[in-house]
Amino acid sequence: NIILAIESSCDDTSAAICADGKILSNVIASQAIHEAYGGVVPELASRAHMQNLLPTVNAALKKAETELGKPLSFTDLNAVAFTQSPGLIGSLMVGCSYAKSLALTLNIPLIGVHHMQAHVLANLLSDPAPEFPFLCLTVSGGHTQIVLCHSPLNMEILGETIDDAAGEAFDKTAKLIGLPYPGGPLIDKYAQSGTPKFALAEPQIPELNFSFSGFKTSVMYFLQKQNKENPNFIGENLNDICASIQHHIINILMKKLVKAVKQTCIKNVCLAGGVSANSGLRNAFKAAGEKHRFNTFIPEFQYCTDNAGMIAITAYHQFLAEKFENLSVSPSARAEWGK
Ligand code: ATP
Ligand code: FE
Repeated sequence: NIILAIESSCDDTSAAICADGKILSNVIASQAIHEAYGGVVPELASRAHMQNLLPTVNAALKKAETELGKPLSFTDLNAVAFTQSPGLIGSLMVGCSYAKSLALTLNIPLIGVHHMQAHVLANLLSDPAPEFPFLCLTVSGGHTQIVLCHSPLNMEILGETIDDAAGEAFDKTAKLIGLPYPGGPLIDKYAQSGTPKFALAEPQIPELNFSFSGFKTSVMYFLQKQNKENPNFIGENLNDICASIQHHIINILMKKLVKAVKQTCIKNVCLAGGVSANSGLRNAFKAAGEKHRFNTFIPEFQYCTDNAGMIAITAYHQFLAEKFENLSVSPSARAEWGK
């Protein structure tokens, strides 16, 4: 079967073509317009999706054609999939409306995908892919979750953040030290030339849950105190501050992940989401795998941040299970897990 998948939950417009569970193309159009505002502006995001969607779908079809070595047109599609939730409602609406109209015109099944489940299943695109059951630490701009994945369509959340996400912790602390949005990749870059010599507060949260709001406040107070003594503190210590912030965020994440591995005795463990691009986290994750004897999996970079490839592989499994939507379906900004 051939599936076209659309992702438009936030500020990336993406389209992918998947043939029998293999990704033939994964085209992503990012929106630079938000940089000037220090964060994603929902109204601008949905407008940009409108502009980007058709060219992105066409590019995905073209690329898939090259990959297949034969012509590919809309009439070859067996299903069309879209991100149904969670996300910015205006952005989701663009992808949903497009997918519905295509399903109606071509008379093919319509598949609605949960974005966070898709982040987890991005790991199925790795070679070798993790065997079930596996654990996944999803660390993205809006979520931080430890997920137990029994099978492609059966997963449960074992723990999650009670306030900010790990990506937000990177971006908000980056803002405190004057770095532009999104600050996560910049913290990663500067941290590579620094040492984590500054002690910051690590919250003690029960079970397998996380909290990053108190951590962010502790960074703020730390900087205020240091700035009083030395107004050039940040400029003179940028690398070490970044290394310290990154070190603590990774510590918070890894402690809970190792706890989850010990609790469940599951030996296949994955990372997912944009923060899994962080070089310190990747190294700490692999080192923990060696120390505690679990197998580690990290998706290719293009499948870590928002992309339609992960929507396509999830849709492929929903297709096999005939989990389809009817044309009255609507997207939702928040959604029950498993919906
Ligand atoms: P969600 O899926 O929860 O709705 P999202 O899809 O917007 O959120 P992603 O695109 O998966 O989030 O990830 C974006 C986040 O990843 C941003 O917070 C960004 O700062 C962070 N990030 C990306 N690269 C790095 C890096 N190298 N180090 C740290 N953080 C990073
Ligand atoms: Fe995402």
